Amino acid sequence: MQLLKYIQSQGHGSRKQCQWLIDNDCIVINGDIRNQPKSDIDPAEVRTLEVDGEAVVPVPMPYFYILLHKPADYETSHKPQQYPSVFSLFPDHMRNIDMQAVGRLDADTTGVLLITNDGQFNHRVTSPKHKVAKIYRVTLKHPADSSLCQRLTDGVLLHDDNETVRAAAAVLENPHTLLMTITEGKYHQVKRMVAAAGNRVEKLHRDRFGEWDTQDLAAGEWRFIDIAPQP
Ligand code: URA
Repeated sequence: MQLLKYIQSQGHGSRKQCQWLIDNDCIVINGDIRNQPKSDIDPAEVRTLEVDGEAVVPVPMPYFYILLHKPADYETSHKPQQYPSVFSLFPDHMRNIDMQAVGRLDADTTGVLLITNDGQFNHRVTSPKHKVAKIYRVTLKHPADSSLCQRLTDGVLLHDDNETVRAAAAVLENPHTLLMTITEGKYHQVKRMVAAAGNRVEKLHRDRFGEWDTQDLAAGEWRFIDIAPQP
């Protein structure tokens, strides 16, 4: 990838602004000033990047995958209505990069949220056809017993939906904590399923999305992850 294109891809301004940064010795990659806009850059080889004297996060290109531990009171949207956007949790320059959430979490839901610029990956892992398991830790308003799990795995009819939706798994950790696995991503699915089964969600945390969990991340923290290429 050409240096100029690479710096632009990182969200550091327009073509003209990036050209200026390069011409004025403001780009330092792995400790070396890079001032030839047409020189070749392998994004995978970029370990450190300084732009105009500031160390910035090098975003893997052409595709990046982010695992975010979403905190409560953030909206999964580029145009939030009530709370700040989850995208505001990233450094400024990353807001100039195309970043899409992989599915949505409600503003009050916490836990695993993937973010990427890879549309094919996004489509693949959110499509119900691929049955990627999402595990939710649900705090229940009313104490429950195994009959709640049975109802959820037998299937419930959601309001405004003609199809029965089943949990792939439902286990009670204690009478107020349910671990529920689903493989679709319908609107407010967990809250609506639990309501249809006669209880109510007080708190919702996504423990796992496919193989990813947030055990090593505090709320609001994130990191890049590697995704195995598809055959
Ligand atoms: N189901 C919900 O009801 N809310 C979420 O945020 C995710 C799944």
